[in-house]
Amino acid sequence: MAAAAARLNHPLNREEFVMPIEQRRRLVTAVPGPRSLELASRKQASVAHGVATTLPAYIVEAGGGILVDADGNHLIDFGSGIAVTTVGNAAPAVVRRAHEAVQKFTHTCFMVTPYEGYVEVAEKLAELTPGDHAKKSALFNSGAEAVENAIKIARVATGRTAVVCFDHAYHGRTNLTMALTAKDMPYKHGFGPFASDIYRVPMAYPYRWPGDAEHVTDEAFAQFESLVHVQVGENQVAAVIIEPIQGEGGFIVPPDGFLPRLAQWCRDNGAVFIADEIQSGFCRTGDWFACDHEGVVPDLITTAKGIAGGLPLAAVTGRAELMDAVHPGGLGGTYGGNPVACAAALGAIEEMQTNDLPGRARQIERIFRDRLGELAQRYPAIGDLRGRGAMMAVELVRPGTKEPDPALTGAVARACHARGLVVLTAGSFGNVFRFLPPLSISDDLLHEGLDVIAEAFAEVTGD
Ligand SMILES: *Cc1c(COP(=O)(O)O)cnc(C)c1O
Repeated sequence: MAAAAARLNHPLNREEFVMPIEQRRRLVTAVPGPRSLELASRKQASVAHGVATTLPAYIVEAGGGILVDADGNHLIDFGSGIAVTTVGNAAPAVVRRAHEAVQKFTHTCFMVTPYEGYVEVAEKLAELTPGDHAKKSALFNSGAEAVENAIKIARVATGRTAVVCFDHAYHGRTNLTMALTAKDMPYKHGFGPFASDIYRVPMAYPYRWPGDAEHVTDEAFAQFESLVHVQVGENQVAAVIIEPIQGEGGFIVPPDGFLPRLAQWCRDNGAVFIADEIQSGFCRTGDWFACDHEGVVPDLITTAKGIAGGLPLAAVTGRAELMDAVHPGGLGGTYGGNPVACAAALGAIEEMQTNDLPGRARQIERIFRDRLGELAQRYPAIGDLRGRGAMMAVELVRPGTKEPDPALTGAVARACHARGLVVLTAGSFGNVFRFLPPLSISDDLLHEGLDVIAEAFAEVTGD
């Protein structure tokens, strides 16, 4: 794809860096095209059906805000591979550092013969995550593994076993994390029995909270306190785990005050407050971490997704005394903190720092709020517009009600896909569009993607 270099109106638009992929939507076949369909039929024959794909356009290269498929279509990326390529796909510092690392050595196992990159990532996590207390980290391969380990650490550190989680939560697909995840289909259905001693309480979900908007924090916190008191017992709680902005559950933003009160409750009751920032972390919401918005300092924070620009890496970071409660050898894994993934993480963090990506996420929020706000005026099916930074969503309902409309959501998503815009849906009721563009996307592509969404709404609603 030797296309002309594009000029980008964002911080990556610097003289020395020329985006190798033309930053323009271009369709040369239907989406998916013939080459992708051929690959999809090979997938059908060789890949387990449980592994489903949202948009079967097979990707051959990507960067900036564009994904290029096997037929040569240039698709606009509003998904970042589910909030992973926050710094952009194949971001320059990620490629450079991972390339240097992969040429030197690919694995030793940090638990056998260690290396500097792992330690450097732990140092960066201590510096960047909320709070200025002494912190330590342990590295893993996936978000679910980080969440499992955060629970292990909280249990050992407190000598307690109960874990409190929330409605609409998503924490992963392994056995313990399925127990923490709220949604049956597709994440849990038929996969039980699940890990025990997990208790679920209502989420402060402003749009769907019965009663007055200004009382959501008070009422949701009162329900949390009462349910824990009656069903669990305060002194049995090892940890309270929450996504500061829920991801798969539909980008539910708790109202101000809810997270600080949970954190305070944990301090008062000797429980560990775990912020699962796997989706909301690393500049996505316009701060380094979503907890920063209200100055909430979690005891443990789980990170993954955006941490390493696409390479598999995850971490638990937290108060040194909690992290050190676990006996030597109690934490680890063969691949956790792989040297190439650590190099990529250092590259991703370099991109975030040198290009002020929290600031870029806030610019993206302004564009989305303006344009989606206009759309919400026009289409009464848009019941709610919410999110923060480059983590924005609209929730679709039957006009005049709050009844979820997953059919409309699916139809608009398909119309976007056919036009070359990669969008993702989410939500317990399957009726939320979530927008997670890479922060390396240009304003032009953002506007073009939003034009496509408007066209898709017009087509599907016949208006
Ligand atoms: C994606 C996600 C996970 C699970 O991460 P994997 O890497 O898919 O295991 C956990 N928590 C949250 C909030 C997530 O968004």
